[in-house]
Amino acid sequence: MSMGAANMDVLVSLSKRRGFVFQSSEIYGGTGSVWDYGPLGVELKNNIKRVWWRDFVQQRADMVGIDASILMHPTVWKASGHLDHFTDPMVDCRECKRRFRADHVDAQPWTHYCPATKGNKFTIPAGEPCGHCGQRRTLCPECGKGELTAPRQFNLMFKTFMGPVEDEAAVTYLRPETAQAMFVNFDNVLQSMRLKLPFGIGQAGRSFRNEITPGNFIFRTREFEQMEIEFFVNPNDRVEGRPADEYWHDRWIEDCMAWFLRYGLAADNLRLREHEHDELAHYAKRTVDIEYKFPIGWSELMGIANRTDFDLKQHAKWSGKSLTYFDEERKEHVVPFVVEPAAGVDRALLAFMADAYREEEVRGEKRVVLKLHPELAPIKVAVLPLLKKRDDIVRAAHAIRADLAKHWRVVYDDTAAIGRLYRRQDEVGTPYCLTVDVQTVGDTERGERGDGRVTIRERNSMEQVRVPVPELIAVIRELLDGAPWPQVAGRYPSPRS
Ligand code: ATP
Repeated sequence: MSMGAANMDVLVSLSKRRGFVFQSSEIYGGTGSVWDYGPLGVELKNNIKRVWWRDFVQQRADMVGIDASILMHPTVWKASGHLDHFTDPMVDCRECKRRFRADHVDAQPWTHYCPATKGNKFTIPAGEPCGHCGQRRTLCPECGKGELTAPRQFNLMFKTFMGPVEDEAAVTYLRPETAQAMFVNFDNVLQSMRLKLPFGIGQAGRSFRNEITPGNFIFRTREFEQMEIEFFVNPNDRVEGRPADEYWHDRWIEDCMAWFLRYGLAADNLRLREHEHDELAHYAKRTVDIEYKFPIGWSELMGIANRTDFDLKQHAKWSGKSLTYFDEERKEHVVPFVVEPAAGVDRALLAFMADAYREEEVRGEKRVVLKLHPELAPIKVAVLPLLKKRDDIVRAAHAIRADLAKHWRVVYDDTAAIGRLYRRQDEVGTPYCLTVDVQTVGDTERGERGDGRVTIRERNSMEQVRVPVPELIAVIRELLDGAPWPQVAGRYPSPRS
């Protein structure tokens, strides 16, 4: 019996208990808007970024990568439009929760329960005091009851100062997306790498947004990581009879969807959502989100936008530098169009965990197992000694761990009986456990020689086979490279029962 039972509380609790994700600054009461990745979380997160980079940057002839600074020239955010969007100071009513522009609150009539008239309700013209009690508006103009919060700048960018002087000239921002660095470096990358369109630039890194309503664990935080690609195409080209930008947009939607499926997300939990015309960002010709059925419901996992030539043109205008591509065939300079597949690392991690989570019943007992794709699993192999009192077994187990750890994240654990050790590894998604026992090392007192084999146990099927120690690295590599377990296991004997 198996069921995916990953509600958010279960994931939060597993994450904390097993070292995936901790509340940031928890000993000080924590904060709901940022989270820390623990020893297993950092492995999982690194694995997600590593396979993304390998599959989308390293393996593709039409992709290169960069790693840009979080702090950029402030004009970048002027040119990109980030500075001018969402910069209104907003206030919220603590009672009715209505939200107002702080500079507009006194530009509307206000509701007043007048203390001089036993609390009678009046609607008073904008900006005027009450004719009975003389009070001016201090509370919510709509409900007349709630206090207003202090004005907050709702520009989502975190503002900071560069250099020792905190004056306006030194103001800069923590990047709210990684994308802009790819536009700003477009010409550097083009020239240094001698690229031909179409080509893309990929980058994974931190972004910061002062989200008004962060929450839902790592789904929406104020500091997060993105994996973004800007894929530049020649807008005058046609591929398969279609404009190149439209063709490549569809290709990237397919490739991104296939990527999430490949690393284990269930097809039933993924869908595409086309942005409506009135919802499109001002720069976008078309945007499609990949949505995942998170424990909080269907929500954006990543977005794939056709940003046209908006960004390159904006940066050319503000920097005064030409950001064009010379089309040899047509002998003309063109501003490339760009397709942007933009994913969140943390959201991907949440989706992979939620999808992998299973509660199963095994011989009358509950087993929690994270059926993570082996490439993503934080620990690839756990080496477990069957008897921790036997020095020779423990020594052999440590030696095997050290040997395998040259290649993968491998742990040794002898802090419980074998059944419990298996369950612990299942719960964190370790695909393979190796057990070293008396049979491996033999029993010198009885004059028995060991068989030099260890038991490999596969997480999902819980099947076991005995593999000679010298073959371990090759076998684990084969399995991690995607060989099906039955094919590999079929070559080896089962343990003696
Ligand atoms: P949302 O609509 O959820 O705020 P968005 O459309 O603003 O997201 P993009 O600007 O397209 O997001 O960013 C690309 C990806 O970065 C998102 O699909 C998401 O995975 C991730 N992301 C964006 N904001 C956050 C955040 N505050 N916390 C975690 N991940 C985020």
